Amino acid sequence: MSNEGLLSEVNKRRTFAIISHPDAGKTTITEKVLLFGEAIKSAGTVKGRGGTGQHAKSDWMEMEKERGISVTTSVMQFPYQDALVNLLDTPGHEDFSEDTYRTLTAVDSCLMVIDSAKGVEARTIKLMEVTRLRDTPIVTFMNKLDRDIRDPIELMDEVEDVLNIACAPITWPIGSGKLFKGVYHILRDEVILYQSGQGHMIQEVRTVKGLDNPELESVIGEDFAEQLREEMELVQGASNEFDMEMFLAGELTPVYFGTALGNFGVDHILDGLVEWAPKPQPRESAERQVEPAEEKFSGFVFKIQANMDPKHRDRIAFMRICSGKYQKGMKMRHVRIGKDISVSDAVTFMAGDRSHADEAFPGDIIGLHNHGTIQIGDTFSQGENLRFTGIPNFAPELFRRIQLKDPLKMKHLQKGLLQLAEEGAVQVFRPLRNNDLIVGAVGILQFDVVVARLKSEYKVEAIYEPINVATARWVACDDQRKLDEFSKKAHDNLALDGGDNLTYIAPTMVNLSLAQERFPEVKFMTTREH
Ligand code: GDP
Repeated sequence: MSNEGLLSEVNKRRTFAIISHPDAGKTTITEKVLLFGEAIKSAGTVKGRGGTGQHAKSDWMEMEKERGISVTTSVMQFPYQDALVNLLDTPGHEDFSEDTYRTLTAVDSCLMVIDSAKGVEARTIKLMEVTRLRDTPIVTFMNKLDRDIRDPIELMDEVEDVLNIACAPITWPIGSGKLFKGVYHILRDEVILYQSGQGHMIQEVRTVKGLDNPELESVIGEDFAEQLREEMELVQGASNEFDMEMFLAGELTPVYFGTALGNFGVDHILDGLVEWAPKPQPRESAERQVEPAEEKFSGFVFKIQANMDPKHRDRIAFMRICSGKYQKGMKMRHVRIGKDISVSDAVTFMAGDRSHADEAFPGDIIGLHNHGTIQIGDTFSQGENLRFTGIPNFAPELFRRIQLKDPLKMKHLQKGLLQLAEEGAVQVFRPLRNNDLIVGAVGILQFDVVVARLKSEYKVEAIYEPINVATARWVACDDQRKLDEFSKKAHDNLALDGGDNLTYIAPTMVNLSLAQERFPEVKFMTTREH
């Protein structure tokens, strides 16, 4: 393929994720976005609500259904206008934040969704911190305008103050709740009217061109027309204008208003994303920066997921393509283990359905069938020894010893735990001094998920016991002799994690600081890059 051909494929792509606090409306927006992508004909099937019997592909886990939380990450690709959009879904519950963080390393922009009755919530703050690590551009959607919302100016002020990002309104709401009339699109100078009860379809919209158009009075009423004109004067005087450079630097966010449930405003965001959000960006590797239009293929794995579809009992490694082109049957190098493999059955995620890809381009996500050799953070290339950086693992804060109900199933338990650790569902530590298996988690819910999955996928019944571990740190030292000395002295507190990395398991925080004082050359790390 000519370089120009590759470049035009790169330019078409927009790869983004939605970040929000649980219940702000991420799932509902995903539904509507797919509707616009004409991926699904009638919205309402993503979470399988309302007993329609239709469940989306991401809804594969019983536990998720029971608890109404989304613990999986899936990928959906669909065309919108001239662009090809890749939407990466992230688990909403905070206990699965590691997965979310890693997914955010694989996108070029994010859509932030805010519940306009509530404003900025805790999880949004955390997620924004993560996007800051890479200065990811953010588009904002103020959702649930069909309810009584907080004052829109106050909402934008809160985003600016709490999240430290400038807001540039692109649309402006006219009323809210029962009196929600629609939005004024500032850049198009056009009032777009809202009709309730049309949430399941792509709506015929009625617009009124121009703020001074006398027709406005007759469609939204005199009071609203007057109020809108006054507010617009105020807003345009007091708020920021959209600025491309600041947007791309993650310093300014375009803001849209609407209701996901009413399917109003979602197309405005998509228009904005397609027009402004960055195409696939260059990526840092330990060796050099990699440009998407480079001829040679490269990509990194940001997530591994087991048994997505009960019909395909395998594990899928999700890879973000960084450069070049994936072509069915091609050879790629698995850099960490130095092996060349032929890949003929990569999975793509067109409209949420798994299908086999013949080709894929930078910005796209492909799924590789994994038989245990691929780990999160692994780089694949076409011969060059590249290692992409910046995919984090976080030191767990909660620990339990895991025990079998049937001791004969030890092999199954080990295998299951190591696989779950490899896909990042949980972390596992094997102390050097005994045969314990310690499970470490960032959030408490991870423990339940692990036991449920061990039972359903590996047929082992396990239970937890408390264990006296306060914290864990990955250890490293430039001086091998010092590391050996440390390993001998601290032997009883050392363990190997799922990837055989040396870890210090501290019974108390005091114990950790003593170890740090005694061995100043040793690094004790709270995050580990894959
Ligand atoms: P998620 O947890 O962020 O994925 O949020 P969901 O999309 O599941 O939405 C949470 C709840 O808010 C659900 O009951 C939705 O029906 C509701 N919801 C989402 N968008 C809107 C909206 O625009 N207006 C109203 N009134 N409810 C909404």
